[in-house]
Amino acid sequence: MPFRLPGRCPPITLYGNPVLRTRAQPVTAFGRELASLVDDLFATMYAIETGVGLAANQIGRLERVFVFDCGDDETGYVVNPVVERIGDDDQDGSEGCLSVPGISVPTVRAARARVQGQDVHGDAVTYEGDGLAARCFQHEVDHLDGVLYVDRHPRLLPSVDRHLQGAEWYGTPALDPRSPRYKRAQSADTPFDPVM
Ligand code: ZN
Repeated sequence: MPFRLPGRCPPITLYGNPVLRTRAQPVTAFGRELASLVDDLFATMYAIETGVGLAANQIGRLERVFVFDCGDDETGYVVNPVVERIGDDDQDGSEGCLSVPGISVPTVRAARARVQGQDVHGDAVTYEGDGLAARCFQHEVDHLDGVLYVDRHPRLLPSVDRHLQGAEWYGTPALDPRSPRYKRAQSADTPFDPVM
């Protein structure tokens, strides 16, 4: 990273940690503490080379906040996000999750999406995107609802779950995203095909 980030770098929570299946709560207190949570989310996301989005559950917090950086100036965060699709087009393509390391599953999402919410001062913000950004908005709001993208594949979930339970990191509630152990967890890329 060419710049220093103000946030600490909290550990990233991993599949099996109940916080990932817990619905986050609306934010009602705005200001400095909330800004510090946003900084922490950015710091943990940027500690992982492949990170394009991170929701509060993924650092063990249950405020409705996520951050994103999908490249091309599509960077930001949203407090109390509400996501909606724009148009009828879908996208397919592979999806992965920093909290479910080592696997990816083709996942259908709206091709274009809008997310509305607030900034750390409580002022309204809106972002629109397609492709990766649209996928990211939908994936992160799912996190805040306690939903993982693998939950969207009910027929595949038992085999995904069996596979993850055999992973070296399984049972570890959270890992430092900079640690060799997390990098090892991420490096095993097992694609799951939902049509099987
Ligand atoms: Zn995720």
